[in-house]
Amino acid sequence: METADAVVIGAGPVGLFQVFQLGLQGLSSHVIDALPHAGGQCAELYGDKPIYDIPGIKVCTGQELTDRLLDQIRPFAPQWHLGEQASLLEPRAGGGFVVETAQGTRLHVRTVVIAAGVGAFMPRTLKLAGLAAFHGTQMRYRLEANENLQGKQVVVHGGGEAAVAAAIACASAPEALRPAQTTLQHRRDVFDARVDLLAQLQTLRAAGRIQVAVGALTDAVEQDGHLTALVLASPTGECLQLPCDLLLVRLGLAPKWGPLADWGLALERKQLVVDPATFSTSVPGIHAVGDAITYPGKRKLIVSGFHEASLAALAAAEWLAGHALALEYTTSSQRLQRRLGVSLANGR
Ligand SMILES: Cc1cc2nc3c(=O)[nH]c(=O)nc-3n(C[C@H](O)[C@H](O)[C@H](O)COP(=O)(O)OP(=O)(O)OC[C@H]3O[C@@H](n4cnc5c(N)ncnc54)[C@H](O)[C@@H]3O)c2cc1C
Repeated sequence: METADAVVIGAGPVGLFQVFQLGLQGLSSHVIDALPHAGGQCAELYGDKPIYDIPGIKVCTGQELTDRLLDQIRPFAPQWHLGEQASLLEPRAGGGFVVETAQGTRLHVRTVVIAAGVGAFMPRTLKLAGLAAFHGTQMRYRLEANENLQGKQVVVHGGGEAAVAAAIACASAPEALRPAQTTLQHRRDVFDARVDLLAQLQTLRAAGRIQVAVGALTDAVEQDGHLTALVLASPTGECLQLPCDLLLVRLGLAPKWGPLADWGLALERKQLVVDPATFSTSVPGIHAVGDAITYPGKRKLIVSGFHEASLAALAAAEWLAGHALALEYTTSSQRLQRRLGVSLANGR
């Protein structure tokens, strides 16, 4: 079991800023997110779109905001648990809390901040007879970085941007890693993706590097315990077999509130009820911020979440210390500047 001062559940913009604020209070953080990357809605839903209402930044994209927040929290070196869903949170005999993820991480922390937004972003699943046995092996939702697919028949299932981007990534991988065949499989020969991705898809199709298989998947073919093909009902009624060593399901993501509802915290219409002075939930020591919470006047805005994160960090530090703490400014507090690792000589 790993130990830390705090765990932040959710690496959206508010969870990231929470790490910063906890760090200023001298508290180290672990960060858990179901996504394989930080940024929450900003990175996942509007990474390339402009945001105009972040204080001091005239305009930036969702991804740029994420990158800036990641840069800002670097001095506090959080421990990342990305691609993991927090599944259990309970008080620990003797003090603190135990947090577990569905992927097997177990943490013992002194305090918890839930920044879970609209829920854990989980991949939409494909329900097909015979596929369950290959879950996580020959049927997956994403590839590892630089995964070697040489000689493999890869089928990417989906019609949206995630599927198109994955097929392009497979077909454009360096030759030593590239699959023998990349097939993009969707019920229609129409794909919903950015114009530049559609143009790349067209080029790769024309070059024979991606083949498109249109129709509905109806079954999986197994031989000696291995997935060897998928059965495809074509629009003309034919039943075809698509050779397949790896099925990549890319149907996009859906937020799942999931286990949060079972952690014994007061909820109101699927949102955590907090005290707006401290952002404490109904369980002392567990705070919550961002889109996951409700209090009178709550607005689901990034700037509101940043305010909540700063008060939650101070309240968590005071709860752990057992007494009130003085407010300190980063401009003038040498303690905060030391925690930030800024050189006092040049202030950067
Ligand atoms: C299209 C769009 C445009 C927007 N534009 C603006 C704008 O211009 N300005 C503005 O202020 N706001 C905007 N918003 C709202 C803003 O994105 C949200 O207020 C903000 O993302 C909330 O941040 P958060 O960190 O609370 O939650 P999120 O960004 O939702 O992040 C929560 C994270 O927690 C993770 N998570 C949840 N539960 C678990 C669990 N059990 N285990 C592991 N991980 C978990 C999720 O995977 C997710 O990554 C916009 C929203 C959308 C959808």
